[in-house]
Amino acid sequence: MIKIKKLLPLLVLAVVIYSCATNPFTGKKTMALVPNSDLFPTSFAQYDQFLSENKVVTGTEDAQMISRVGERIAAASERYLSANGYHGYLNDYKWEYHLVDDPTENAWCMPGGKIVFYTGILPVAKSETGVAVIMGHEVAHALANHGQQRMSAGMLQQFGAVAGNVVLQDENDRNLFNQYYGVGTQVGAMLPFSRSHETEADKIGLYIMAIAGYDPTEAASLWERMKANSGGGEPSELLSTHPSNDSRISNLRELAPHAIHEAKKFGVTSFRE
Ligand SMILES: [Zn+2]
Repeated sequence: MIKIKKLLPLLVLAVVIYSCATNPFTGKKTMALVPNSDLFPTSFAQYDQFLSENKVVTGTEDAQMISRVGERIAAASERYLSANGYHGYLNDYKWEYHLVDDPTENAWCMPGGKIVFYTGILPVAKSETGVAVIMGHEVAHALANHGQQRMSAGMLQQFGAVAGNVVLQDENDRNLFNQYYGVGTQVGAMLPFSRSHETEADKIGLYIMAIAGYDPTEAASLWERMKANSGGGEPSELLSTHPSNDSRISNLRELAPHAIHEAKKFGVTSFRE
């Protein structure tokens, strides 16, 4: 009799191959044990719960600015993906953008386009363009399914992913979800992105912000401010989940002209103040 233990690696391999999705930006196959059809309802429910438990800012200039940048980043994402042959890729997205009154220096985008900015990140963002840098980067992680890949890898590690597609229904699954998607409210509850995911999100984010009409040359300055700001006092939550280094800043400087060139293809020849 063949021991089930011997079969397990094969089984895991089969599950991984079965559960692949394509990253529209790189064309590469990526691991997705939880399909979007299961992931998005969980994401939307967690987002609503987060909003109900936090102080959502409405009606202020800052809140309106977050919505405005959000709408432009969302529209730019749709245009970019359509132009690259991914029509309908964002059909199940339900974009939403909110500012919450919280001194934490953080911002995130959950699967399906659910975005939160914390008031604590606005001083380091400094301007609408700074907000667009951060939002473009966060949305890029969502578009490239980085959270999904990390969660799938985490599931394989923790559970061996014996079940094929995983339905997120119990408390443990939801905690896992929060760990990988930035909803964690305790410091250290959310795990950092890998360097390759950071580099990918920087590039996609830069393209999207430029197509949305925001100057991509500002991105390097934003990350410089973020780094300088992290010297004293409270640690930056955003930096803890998005590990940064000096090569990021030089990489962003090199990429900015490419983003400007890309934006021209979409008729964007000058950028907002
Ligand atoms: Zn990141």
